[in-house]
Amino acid sequence: MSADRFLAEWTRITTELTQLVDTALDVEPPGECPEAWARWLARFEVPREGEDARYQQVRADGQTKGAPLKEVQGCLESLAREASTRLAPLRQTLSAEQAALVETSLHTLASSALDHYRTKATEKKKRMFGAAKALANQHQYGGFKASIGYVLTCATCRAPRLGESLTCAFCGGQLEGVS
Ligand SMILES: [Zn+2]
Repeated sequence: MSADRFLAEWTRITTELTQLVDTALDVEPPGECPEAWARWLARFEVPREGEDARYQQVRADGQTKGAPLKEVQGCLESLAREASTRLAPLRQTLSAEQAALVETSLHTLASSALDHYRTKATEKKKRMFGAAKALANQHQYGGFKASIGYVLTCATCRAPRLGESLTCAFCGGQLEGVS
């Protein structure tokens, strides 16, 4: 009956997704493979692109920062598969409406996160100095509010949600519109 266990697991998944994208975006210059990123590749058993291939890829994709798209995509797809497996036994605790919402969210999890990543990783760098630069270098995607770009979650219970729904299928709370 209670969706608490589901929500706890879902929160874990979206947190990990956010950290994964954060780490990938922190890679500079583009195509490098720092230890922090290598750990994600190992975590999701994604093969590391070769030294030459990774720099070619980021150049071909017009990236201004970040790990190669191919590696990020591999990690995201692996995360989505794992999430689906972990959530499967918890689905019986959900209503039909909630289960359908979860199904949709899992389906789009990897692709919408990758779209978000591609946009951020190909952004032109702004010329910045001093305080502005320090501010920009802080993690911008940590935390749930910031992750709204690629995982839509209810601000109250952190359940998955769809952009067009007005009330949360989990806690019944009013959802703000997504701009
Ligand atoms: Zn909610």
